Amino acid sequence: MKFDTKVVRAGIKPDPTTGAIVPPIYQSATYVLEEVGKDKGYDYTRASNPTREILENNLAALDGGKYGIAFSSGMAAVDSMMKLLNTGDHVVCSDDVYGGVSRLYNNLMVNYGISFTYVNSSVAQEVEDAIQENTKLIWIETPTNPLLKVTDLVAVGKIAKKHKILYGVDSTFSTPALLRPLEHGADVTMHSTTKYLSGHNQIIGGALITNNEELAEKFKFIQKSVGAVPSPFDCWLTLTGIKTLSIRMKRHCENALSIAEFLENHPSVEKVTYPGLSSHPQHNIAKDQMDDYSGMISMELKNGIPAGISLMNNLKLCSLAESLGSVETMITHPATMTHADVPKEERLARGLTDGLVRLSVGIEDKDDIIEDLDQAL
Ligand code: PLP
Repeated sequence: MKFDTKVVRAGIKPDPTTGAIVPPIYQSATYVLEEVGKDKGYDYTRASNPTREILENNLAALDGGKYGIAFSSGMAAVDSMMKLLNTGDHVVCSDDVYGGVSRLYNNLMVNYGISFTYVNSSVAQEVEDAIQENTKLIWIETPTNPLLKVTDLVAVGKIAKKHKILYGVDSTFSTPALLRPLEHGADVTMHSTTKYLSGHNQIIGGALITNNEELAEKFKFIQKSVGAVPSPFDCWLTLTGIKTLSIRMKRHCENALSIAEFLENHPSVEKVTYPGLSSHPQHNIAKDQMDDYSGMISMELKNGIPAGISLMNNLKLCSLAESLGSVETMITHPATMTHADVPKEERLARGLTDGLVRLSVGIEDKDDIIEDLDQAL
């Protein structure tokens, strides 16, 4: 199947009991056994659920993986990845990850004796230089949240392979419509399905995808043991959202490029970062490894923080909100919203200034978005 067919069809068969074309929401906690030791493949929904299984198979197929494991949030997926590690292990991580990931690492995982080195993974050599004897995981986000740094996944994959280190990629901003990290050497792809995959701001969810059977078994064991599973209804909504992923991403990308070009030429804007602009430092890597550049833009305004606040408070159509990747255009102030828990010195050191504004471009008519931005600027 081609990708645009997979989003609609992969892993989805007519319901065996009724022929329903849309998978039913199996909203059941438990399943009746025919006799002792004989079930119909399901015994308890924390362990497995038919609606969730359809979503997991669909997600796996989109990323070119054999196994998909769904979680109740992107963070639960990241946390489940960390549960592969042991006390004393070390992680090399992109320096501009989503604030919730650094919050988990710096405030919780360190209490279990796991240590972290943050590097600019856009420079693959920095990843290799940070490897220690006890490094067990390389964790890359591309493009990063919110600075949109792009990592050459093949280059980092070679380093991971050479040092026999597990290699995971948070591909939330790219989505499988634009990038499939397993094809570029990653062992595990992670998504916050809250974002583009479900696409409609209705659910919180996450997923891990892999081709490695042993890893998949471990993730399933963690999923069952911890119980951070999505509800059947959330799985169903996600499946419905995914059906339009391809056409939504086309529109997100088309709108974002036009808006990035508009912002780059606007007299009030100091700097625009969008992987699709030739001014982006890793534009060529993005061009080679992604099918398009997604819908996320970050920018700095000429008059810094007051101008940013004025912009965000004066928008009429675009919504001032956390999150990204939905059909609605949303604007965020990372320093006080998504990345508020990242210590200020760490934020500034990685270039995440107080004046940075992040735009998640939706699928509305781009002229309306531009008009709104223009009047607020
Ligand atoms: N990874 C990235 C890149 C994100 O942007 C987010 C959330 O914004 C997450 C992970 C966490 O996902 P969730 O909010 O679904 O837990």
